[in-house]
Amino acid sequence: MADVEKVEIVGTPALDGTYISEMDMWPFECQEFNRIYPFYEHLRDGKFTTTKCKKCGHIAFPPGVICPRCWSEELEWVELPQRARVVTFTETQAGAPIGFPPPIIMAWLSFGEGSPLKQLLSRIVNCKEGELKEGDEVKFVVFDVPSHPIEVKKETKICDRVYYAFEPVK
Ligand SMILES: [Zn+2]
Repeated sequence: MADVEKVEIVGTPALDGTYISEMDMWPFECQEFNRIYPFYEHLRDGKFTTTKCKKCGHIAFPPGVICPRCWSEELEWVELPQRARVVTFTETQAGAPIGFPPPIIMAWLSFGEGSPLKQLLSRIVNCKEGELKEGDEVKFVVFDVPSHPIEVKKETKICDRVYYAFEPVK
């Protein structure tokens, strides 16, 4: 994981002074705020997971708390493959949102035969401008994102956060 300095400031300029908290794009991952918090705990363990419906077998991504096909709430966590191939992609080389240095690469990925999840739209990181090609193999990677303060029973708690992306297999 990337060595990101932990944010000590509690309050509005929480995000390393890069941008204001209202512009924060990352999810609140802690249990008090997020019913799919196990997804983020799995990320911390290096696992890429999602929810599968125990009733109809439907596998949804992103994970949820209710099956989008049969509305059952009986879901279980399943692991997803960590390697995929790039079907197509976009590369933002200028005008990236504040806090995101370009290039911002979003790729449509294919997991191939036998995978519970066939396709996925994901960000590609650790990749230079113009480097990615259609058909390239990419692998799952977890990285730290800025912490965020939340109020839990009148106490301020700093939630460390992580997120995932894919990176080229060199
Ligand atoms: Zn279902």
